Amino acid sequence: MKYVLYGFLILLAIVVILLIIAIIRAIIIKKEYIPATKVMGEVARKEEFARKLGDLIKCNTITYVNPEDADRFLHYHQVVKEMFPLIDKKLEKIEIEGYSFLYKWKGKNQTKKPILLIGHSDVVPITKDGWTKDPFSGDYDGERVHGRGALDNKSSFYAFMQAVEDLLKDGFVPEVDVYLGSASDEEIAGVGAVRIMKYLKERNVRLALVLDEGGAIITGVLPTLKAPFAVVGILEKGFANLEFVKTGIGGHASTPSKNTPLVQIAKFITEVEKKKPLKKKFIPEVQTMFECMAPYMSFSYRLLFANFWLFKPLLTRLLPAVSPYGAAILGTTFAFTMAEGSSAPNVIPTKAKVIVNIRTHPIQDITSSLKVFNKIASKYGITGTMIKGAEATKKVDMNSKGYLYLTEMIKRIFPDVGIAPYMITGRTDAREFEEISDCTIRFAPTRMTNEDLKGIHGINESVAINSVIEAIHFYKELLKNYQE
Ligand SMILES: [Zn+2]
Repeated sequence: MKYVLYGFLILLAIVVILLIIAIIRAIIIKKEYIPATKVMGEVARKEEFARKLGDLIKCNTITYVNPEDADRFLHYHQVVKEMFPLIDKKLEKIEIEGYSFLYKWKGKNQTKKPILLIGHSDVVPITKDGWTKDPFSGDYDGERVHGRGALDNKSSFYAFMQAVEDLLKDGFVPEVDVYLGSASDEEIAGVGAVRIMKYLKERNVRLALVLDEGGAIITGVLPTLKAPFAVVGILEKGFANLEFVKTGIGGHASTPSKNTPLVQIAKFITEVEKKKPLKKKFIPEVQTMFECMAPYMSFSYRLLFANFWLFKPLLTRLLPAVSPYGAAILGTTFAFTMAEGSSAPNVIPTKAKVIVNIRTHPIQDITSSLKVFNKIASKYGITGTMIKGAEATKKVDMNSKGYLYLTEMIKRIFPDVGIAPYMITGRTDAREFEEISDCTIRFAPTRMTNEDLKGIHGINESVAINSVIEAIHFYKELLKNYQE
């Protein structure tokens, strides 16, 4: 009895010591957020920038799908050409089939690898209701520019084009070749970016750095986090559609047999939903994201996120339960999206099927996920196959030249902003360039709040003009200071 008591006291002492260490760490890592006192960049040119971005938004560039859309995109090309006369005059324009395009700005040093800034020109369709301003008005109210594409993605495209136009006016020549690219069909994961990549690949262009959309400077990324954070996209999840089919005896609904194909499919779905059989794990990049943000969070969050050594198992369980994004960054997610039985209400189908849409994480790829599902499916005589998919992208090395250079520039231009690596749960054009690029980063230097984010693919999309001014300044500095 005495030994049990001793054992218990020793255990208690260990727990208390560990908690004290965790609490001390949470206290000492605390950092105060110091808000920015001024807008970086040419504030005096506010009106000009707003008008030009507005003119791009006025162009209806809902995704290029077929030749009927040609006129709209031809008009957009014309607007871009007139807006940036020096780019038009001094850079080589490469027209890519389907109204995507690429500009080449020749640098001083042809032996060094070029860089590519890319921003798609298409936008998603608009819903008719709910917009307080015409989505193609490009309206400027003195603070914000409104309309479809204001954030996704005309503001960052405009910002890097304006930066280059201004640098050309100053007679600046970049150190390396700089490509400026824009696809016309990013929003439907089209072929524009692939064609741009192929054009470069055929000319043996190997890029040192690709910068596309994906991450941004976001205020309120996590609860209690006051500091805005530059979330730098260093990898993209993959996706796949898996189809599960069961065949068997059907018949007339008036004389039903048991365990028909549709019922078996339902059982399969129920078991998968209940078991949630895919893995969950913190990869170092995701852990780093939380560790970067922890110092600016409230004490309780600091306690958790500054002490992965102690709370990792708890966080692995907790995070997916409290947030869908939390679940998405810890593992491959799945969602049952389409199901099919018979085509008549009184016919029992001889074949039933269901589609599972998965978003793959580096810890569990398509093949491995399918294997897990098939193990459950086999109990019901169901077989699953992949009908379409693409794996998660490579991870950007956080010690690579490209990543270090980019984060250094973010620090310089946005001194009030924290920086953290970030996993993109959606898809961007950037993934198409990995094959020919040393470092492919998803980050646009645009400040957004959680409220602003709702405008992306939603209603009342708009961007703060101060953010556009800073983005132009950022791209200028990025190009001016780039060495290799
Ligand atoms: Zn976009």
